[in-house]
Formats: sequence, C-alpha cells, structure tokens
Amino acid sequence: MNTIILKFGGSSVANDEKLNLVAQKIINLYNNNNKIVAVVSAQGKTTDHLISEAKSLSICPNPRELDALVSIGEQITASKLAMLLLAKNYNAISLTGWQAGIVTDDINQSAIIKSINTSRINQELDNGKIVIVAGFQGVNSKNDVTTLGRGGSDTTAVALAAALNSKSCYIYSDVDGIYTSDPNKVTNTKKIDEISYDEMLEISSEGAKVLHNRCVEIGEKYNIPIIAKSTFNDEPGTLISNKTQIEGTVVKNIVKKEISRLSIIGNGFMSNNEIYKKIMNIIEKNNLDILNIDITRTKIAIVFKTVVDNTILQELHKEIIEQI
Ligand code: ASP
Ligand code: MG
Repeated sequence: MNTIILKFGGSSVANDEKLNLVAQKIINLYNNNNKIVAVVSAQGKTTDHLISEAKSLSICPNPRELDALVSIGEQITASKLAMLLLAKNYNAISLTGWQAGIVTDDINQSAIIKSINTSRINQELDNGKIVIVAGFQGVNSKNDVTTLGRGGSDTTAVALAAALNSKSCYIYSDVDGIYTSDPNKVTNTKKIDEISYDEMLEISSEGAKVLHNRCVEIGEKYNIPIIAKSTFNDEPGTLISNKTQIEGTVVKNIVKKEISRLSIIGNGFMSNNEIYKKIMNIIEKNNLDILNIDITRTKIAIVFKTVVDNTILQELHKEIIEQI
C-alpha cells in the first residue's frame, strides 16, 4: 500500500465547512487503498492571533513559552480533523509533533528537524488508521516543544514524506499551484505546471510566500516530488521535482523582494543573453538605476538604487513570460 503525505494550509482548514471538505478529500484517497498521513496548519489566522496575544503580555515573549503557545494552533486543527473523521466512521488519530517522533534542535521559533522516529506513525498506519499530524512543531532534546518558523508545516510534511519513504507529498492550499508572479501585483499571471527544485528554492528564498523554502530543500535531498495544489478544485497543480529541460532558456517566475529587489527565476541564463537584453531594455526605458546585479544558472537578481514600482514587474512579466 502506498503512503501518501498530504498537507493542508491554514486557509484550507479555516472553518468547519472547509474541514469537512478536507475530511472528504482524505476519505476519497483512503478509500483508494492508500495509507494517509495528513499534516495540518493552524486554522486561518490563529498563529498570528496567538503571537499578538503573547506580545500583549510581554514585549519580548520568552521563546520557550512562545513555542508552547503557538504550537497549540496546529494541535487544535489536528484533533478537530481527527474528530470529524471519526464521526464519519473513519478510523483516525491526531498526533502532536512529539507524538509523531519529530525531534529538533534547540532553536525556538526556527528549529531544525534533527530526526524523525516513525514507529508510532507506522504503528497507527498498520492498524488502518488515518494519521493527522500537527505541523510546524517538534520537541528538542529536553522534550520541550519547538516550532519550525512561520510556514513550517510544509517542512513537516516533506520531512515526513522522506522519513516514511513516501513517493510524493501534496501541499494543499487555497491557490491552484505556483504562479509566474504574485497575482496581487501582476495581471495575467499563469500557473506553472512543472518546476525544478532549484527554481522553486529561488522563488521561495526570494520571498514569495508560496512554500517554505526548507521543504523544497528536503524534497530535493530525498528526491520527493512535491505537488502544490488547491484544496477546493481538482486541477493538477504544480509539480516540483528534479525534472529540468535539456537546453534553452525558460523564465518561470518574477518576484519582488522588499522594495527594490527583483528576481527573475528560470533556467539557462548563463548561456543565453536574450532575456538579459530584454530586461536591460525595460530598465533603461524606465530610467532605473541598478545598484547590483547577480546572474546565476537559475536567477537574475537585480537590486535597484530606488524603490521599484509594481508596473515594472508587470512590464517584465509581459515581455519575458507572457510573450515567450
Ligand atoms: N501556523 C504556522 C504559521 O502560520 C505554520 C504554518 O502554517 O505552516 O506560520
Ligand atoms: Mg504556508
């Protein structure tokens, strides 16, 4: 039997109605003869609320206690989802990070996973149970709760996929997959069907809040295809894997980080300067002053001396993604 790892983000589990949809998705996959491990985030804005509650008590909350507090968000979702599945007569169990065997280092709020002891999860799966794991958390060597950093449930999911030798990891959210740019800043963005780990890592590291960059690194290290897709439709989503095209230049994404840094992500930039020329033309036409430019195999990153308007992002998107 195949073990499938699913991860549901905060907006996918925000209320009872959405939890029901998630439960149904899990049931469908389970009925197709799969073992299911579902990793969940905190519901909606729960983590933000917990952090602001902590900050209203203390300007600089104690890091150990802050992790003890914020980790509760994911635990609420996990137990609710397990309860819902049980009420629908499906055998499910929720596990916290430590019950799932996730051991981290001691760095509160940005802990790194050191090891995963999968014996409890495997035992539950072998008993036919659907296992729901609270994302974003683990325990350190003192058994204190730690968290993996904002967005860390993605990392929990891919790390579990690696530890359980799963063939793929599905990251469900409220968007259809990874887009060519931020749809809130650029019109005519398109969903990317396939992207390499390297390219995805650049997109995540340049600040696009689509996937936790550490989950992409784990995916690459253990060669686990990651599929980013929507909880609310059956579109195929974006496949993140080690597949790359043999030759040629393809621009996959444009991302703006902070106010004056733009990164163009894709492949083949070192051996083809057509894209570079197009970018430079747009920059010259708009009289923008460059402070620094960095070109690698997968990225052209430009830092400007002044604030870059989203219209530049739009123009670049039009010229080097839409028209190619
Ligand atoms: N709930 C955590 C956050 O909001 C972790 C996650 O959702 O992945 O950052
Ligand atoms: Mg996220």
